[in-house]
Amino acid sequence: MTKLSPHFSKAEMACRCCGNLKIEDRLLSALETLRNLAGVPVIVHDAYRCPKHNEEVGGVADSEHTQGLAADVRISGLSLQQMYELALQVPEFGNGGIGAYDGGFLHVDVRDHRSRWARVRGQYVGIQHLVREPVLLTDKATGTYPV
Ligand SMILES: [Zn+2]
Ligand SMILES: [Zn+2]
Repeated sequence: MTKLSPHFSKAEMACRCCGNLKIEDRLLSALETLRNLAGVPVIVHDAYRCPKHNEEVGGVADSEHTQGLAADVRISGLSLQQMYELALQVPEFGNGGIGAYDGGFLHVDVRDHRSRWARVRGQYVGIQHLVREPVLLTDKATGTYPV
């Protein structure tokens, strides 16, 4: 199994239909950061997609998946909300794209601007349909956290 980084192999990141691979280093390094924050395996459903495969799975044209910038992931034992909160702590994802899917996985990408969405029963909707913004740990007003 060819390793691309400490926790991710070529087979995990390659296109599911043809095995072709295009992957940006900053995606791999952001996924490593996520893996280290989680402390448990990050399972990659889908990362690079060739244009043909992207079309077959109903991805938007010019999807970040076809540019080696995106991965759809699940993290062992974590809810969608917990995965979202972890992804927000990775600067490349927090400042990039995060999508929550009702199938229980998260799309993360390292595009150069912030984008959020959810996909519920095949429809794109606001991300708040599936997850909520975390309460800031520094929010003293709640009195919940020692400061
Ligand atoms: Zn393919
Ligand atoms: Zn995706």
